[in-house]
Amino acid sequence: MGHAEAIATGRLGLSELAPRVVQSEIRAMTVECDRVGGVNLAQGVCDTEVPAVVAEGAIKAIHDGLNIYTRLDGIARLRNAIAAKVERTLGISVDPDREVLVTSGTTGGFHAVAMALLNPGDEALVFEPFYGYHANTLRSVRAIPVPVALQEPDWALSLDAVRAAITPRTRAMVINTPVNPCGKVFTRAELEGLAEIAQEFDLFVFTDEIYEHFIYGGAKHISPATIPGMRERTIVMSGFSKTFSVTGWRVGYLLADSKWLGSIGYFHDLLYVCAPAPFQHGCADGVEQLGPEFYANLAHDHEAKRTMIVDALRIAGMTPHVPDGAYYVLASTGDLPGNTAAEKARALLAKTGVAAVAGSAFFRPGKGEDLLRFCFAKKDADLAEACRRLKAFAPK
Ligand code: PLP
Repeated sequence: MGHAEAIATGRLGLSELAPRVVQSEIRAMTVECDRVGGVNLAQGVCDTEVPAVVAEGAIKAIHDGLNIYTRLDGIARLRNAIAAKVERTLGISVDPDREVLVTSGTTGGFHAVAMALLNPGDEALVFEPFYGYHANTLRSVRAIPVPVALQEPDWALSLDAVRAAITPRTRAMVINTPVNPCGKVFTRAELEGLAEIAQEFDLFVFTDEIYEHFIYGGAKHISPATIPGMRERTIVMSGFSKTFSVTGWRVGYLLADSKWLGSIGYFHDLLYVCAPAPFQHGCADGVEQLGPEFYANLAHDHEAKRTMIVDALRIAGMTPHVPDGAYYVLASTGDLPGNTAAEKARALLAKTGVAAVAGSAFFRPGKGEDLLRFCFAKKDADLAEACRRLKAFAPK
């Protein structure tokens, strides 16, 4: 084909994928909230304090000249600290040299996992409501997210529904525990049921455990990798964004059998080269120096914030699903005007100045239209202001 002909056939254009990967509703609400000067409970920005040891560790690293590329799997001190921590908190023992990868956030970790382990057309189960990035990351490697609905009101898991969703193309399931957006914490019995299915159909299990320290009431976080027989097929992904309130730093990690970790690491290198060097040092200081009381306080403080938002939503005439973990509440919208959740979210923002995310962002098309998601990882003063505004909206 000649040059002129090539131009005539219109080769310039977006990929087939691009029209399906658009600005998330969460970011869109943040833009709208800023425009009207509201309180943003939409994005999981987590603007609580960064622990001093973590912030000072990063600043010191910059001054000490630790600003260059790190090894592709991360600095040894952080990998060692992560290995010691996961042994202590999850009961997983890993080799810090062969089974730990420091990543550019959990997001970067999952992208590298998907590139290294999935082929175009592979199907991966995601439990619905799901975190949009999981579905879109799968799509971005031309894999297919297959939603399996959790049952309202308490987001119960149906193992029959999981089995029904499996096809010859199924290669993996994605488990996010605790769940963004609904706050479900998968129980040991549920994880054992899923493990049995994963073994029967020879599936990978990708677990996103970024909210592992945000656990309330009597709930307990269990890593699916600790279910007997699951280590080899489970890739555990987590990170420091939420635990240390450093969402903009982009430091996470994953644990995987050394059979998979090498290739995942190469793809991570290709995409990100390494997680930011001085921030790896700050996180290493935090993991080394912050004891169990830090994590207990984190859960305790957020449990109090959960009570504040749940009470305010009830007074405002909505019906919150009280979460056992993570830091979001999904609430039924009551009689907010609008046909869709996005319209209802905008109506709430206009009436109260509080931004929430449309529940539909977490479901397949047509579902979640009567739900809004509120993030409560906010400084107490901001959350109190949001709650005051919501309560003032109480049906008279
Ligand atoms: N996974 C889940 C379930 C999340 O909710 C979020 C952030 O909202 C992330 C991952 C992002 O993690 P990171 O900042 O480590 O990429």
